[in-house]
Amino acid sequence: MNAGSIADQYDAFFFDLDGVLYTGEVAVAGAPETLAVLRSRHKQVRFLTNNPWRTRDEFARKLAGLGFQASPDEIVTSVAALGHLLAAAPDLRGQTALVIGSDALRAAVVGAGLRLTEDPEARDADVVVVGSHAGFHYGELRAACQALRRGARCFATNRDPTFPMPDGPWPGTGAVLAAVEVAGGSRAEVAGKPEPHMFAAARATLPRGARVVVVGDRLDTDIAGGIRAGLATVLVFSGVTAPGDVASSPYRPDHAITSVTDLLTEPAPVWRPGPDAAGGG
Ligand SMILES: [Mg+2]
Repeated sequence: MNAGSIADQYDAFFFDLDGVLYTGEVAVAGAPETLAVLRSRHKQVRFLTNNPWRTRDEFARKLAGLGFQASPDEIVTSVAALGHLLAAAPDLRGQTALVIGSDALRAAVVGAGLRLTEDPEARDADVVVVGSHAGFHYGELRAACQALRRGARCFATNRDPTFPMPDGPWPGTGAVLAAVEVAGGSRAEVAGKPEPHMFAAARATLPRGARVVVVGDRLDTDIAGGIRAGLATVLVFSGVTAPGDVASSPYRPDHAITSVTDLLTEPAPVWRPGPDAAGGG
């Protein structure tokens, strides 16, 4: 690592996963080696993902399979953050929850002390919890609509409209949540980025005064959330955001780079907001 590189300026790195370290089942070129170099330099590494499809153990196994060193206790998920959010509300304990989401999300809801409910009682649920899952169907939307119209509270893991896959973007939780919110006529409380919960959870594992940088591919979650949390930010163009998208966004990262491998380069490729930023691709 060269003095003056982006990596040299920080002690801890909060990496997003989809579009930053991998796309689908393929690692971003050079990303495993970049993380290994950071660790060899005693940098702290955390993984913060809004993806609600897996548990921390499952993400750790996926990362290991792609060549990344990662332990479950370094991983912060929107599912775990939502579990903490639900558990912190004592009035929710014992209430019934309609969950639209993965087994990981259902387990987190149960872990927070709520009871799962299924059709046909789902319309009487006290709480609707939205992640997304590949089996999302109209019956779930109908039940959520009726529960919310009867006064259920709505929670969600995240609002990402899409996530990057090798064949192009796939609909994310935000797309499912938009349908639920429109049908139910209510607005969900969200646990994932850009809300502060995941950043706070990750920061609580670090020494005071650690210089933290958020590395992500989404302006409206990773970068917006990092800025709101008072952290430095790096935007990478290996995921859903292209250089030409930056000028029209209200969020300004401290750095913008092609991929995480540029964290180690010298001189630090610093993106500077200005009129020249438009039309960059
Ligand atoms: Mg991402």
